[in-house]
Amino acid sequence: MKHQWRCRRCGKLLGIVEQNRLHIQFARGHQYFVGMPATSVCRGCKTLNELATDQELRKGNTNIQSQLQN
Ligand SMILES: [Zn+2]
Repeated sequence: MKHQWRCRRCGKLLGIVEQNRLHIQFARGHQYFVGMPATSVCRGCKTLNELATDQELRKGNTNIQSQLQN
């Protein structure tokens, strides 16, 4: 199961979550697989994004959706 990890402010793609690790790909072919938790500063808007675990990511998305519905 893969999830896209996106900036919580501008929605720019930060990486791909694959089970318990994070796949980060940069320009010119550099790629990294890192463990979670992970943090990243968005290259677009400079917002600090934090990623805990795959399960918490899904939980977080659910919370965001419920907030939008309210
Ligand atoms: Zn951003």
